[in-house]
Amino acid sequence: MAKLTPPVEKNQYVTVKFEDLTHEGAGVAKVDGFPIFVQNALPEEEGNVKIIKVKKGFAIGRMMETTKESRFRTEPPCPVYKQCGGCQLQHLKYEAQLDYKTKQVKEVLARLGNIKDVTVHPTLGMEDPWNYRNKAQVPVGESEGGLVAGFYKQRSHDIIDIERCMIQQEQNDDVVQAVRKICSKYGIRAYDETKHKGTLRHVMVRYGATTGEQMVVLVTRTKELPNKNKVIEELRARLPQLKSIVQNVNSKKTNVIMGDETTVLWGEEYIYDNIGDVKFAISARSFYQVNPTQTKVLYDKALEYADLQGEEEVIDAYCGIGTISLFLAQKAKKVYGVEIVPEAIEDAKRNAELNGITNAEFEAGKAEEVIPAWYKKGISADTLVVDPPRKGCDEALLNTIIDMKPNRVVYVSCNPGTLARDLQVLEGGGYKTVEVQPVDMFPHTTHVECCALLVRKD
Ligand code: SAH
Repeated sequence: MAKLTPPVEKNQYVTVKFEDLTHEGAGVAKVDGFPIFVQNALPEEEGNVKIIKVKKGFAIGRMMETTKESRFRTEPPCPVYKQCGGCQLQHLKYEAQLDYKTKQVKEVLARLGNIKDVTVHPTLGMEDPWNYRNKAQVPVGESEGGLVAGFYKQRSHDIIDIERCMIQQEQNDDVVQAVRKICSKYGIRAYDETKHKGTLRHVMVRYGATTGEQMVVLVTRTKELPNKNKVIEELRARLPQLKSIVQNVNSKKTNVIMGDETTVLWGEEYIYDNIGDVKFAISARSFYQVNPTQTKVLYDKALEYADLQGEEEVIDAYCGIGTISLFLAQKAKKVYGVEIVPEAIEDAKRNAELNGITNAEFEAGKAEEVIPAWYKKGISADTLVVDPPRKGCDEALLNTIIDMKPNRVVYVSCNPGTLARDLQVLEGGGYKTVEVQPVDMFPHTTHVECCALLVRKD
């Protein structure tokens, strides 16, 4: 193919009309078929754009003047929306965000998985799409006045001090602010990633939406935490809803937030939360969905797609603390869960006990190793659920599924791109994707969660 010569050059002004949004939420306009990406622009909008960068297959522009505004534009309510990298879609009306996500899922399934003949349902949204996050994970830095805690500026590691985050449960913001003030008062220094010095790296807070219980995790570079006892004492005095104060040591030069060493400084190792009628104990290191309202919607959909009659053997791959497994166990003969984080498996076992569920078994390990080993031992599934991280399922797991031939596969995914890739593999192995239900777990961000149902063709 002949190389497409970009029809625009740096610093040029062009008048354009926007047609689409990228997966990162930027507006897309075309000049002679060549895409121009402009932050904050929306489909249907028109305006004058200055080209600031020209790359091989696209250019990046900046909106200089908008001549026509989208019907779907709205005033972003968050005062730091433009600086903060956390949300990307606050300027788009919520209904339109849901339509955008549905369209994106359809488009990605077709383009990356060649899956066209499938029903993609309209994205299930929230009635009140604010203050939904049950977990805050906030980097800590320093300014002249002491510690700052907030969010990274878009595409940078500068920290913006934020007292209120509009998608966060307010109780979590309160804890972050209390930690910031107390640690400032006791002379605890923020971690400096360029010098690899200082102490406090991140504050993580978890909130059990149905119990009101909170856990705070101080992620530090060193095991030593200056004035530790005073910090604990004051946190407890200021925040009576705290059930657990935890320290996690991460001494590495890394962007990964948590390190390997976790100690309870005060209180419980767990906080509790309920999803539907199942109760969960959640520890510092375990994965737990961040939007409790929509988690229920997602799990109900997974359960509906699993269509259990009570006699099935079910495998839940990437089971975390056993959330989906325990939902399924209420309707199945037996559930086997597998998960890579050993602490999460401990939580899963504890959660089964907590709910009097005796037909669920859990094993720690890689899904792509444990499930083939189970299969060799004669453990097979009528229904198989997968809920992998963003990178999707390992090929070895997909091949085992194809050999094992469960009647139904329910694929829960937080990344439509890897979902499309994996569905294509399963389709090649005898499965048909019947329907896909996107669920809005992360309003005002470009992230989209999906639940897909596959059945065997024969
Ligand atoms: N189903 C759970 C967890 C989903 S998140 C829930 O809804 O809460 C994905 C999980 O996969 C995480 O808990 C992560 O630790 C786990 N994981 C990542 N790679 C894995 C692998 N190779 N094998 C098994 N589990 C893995």
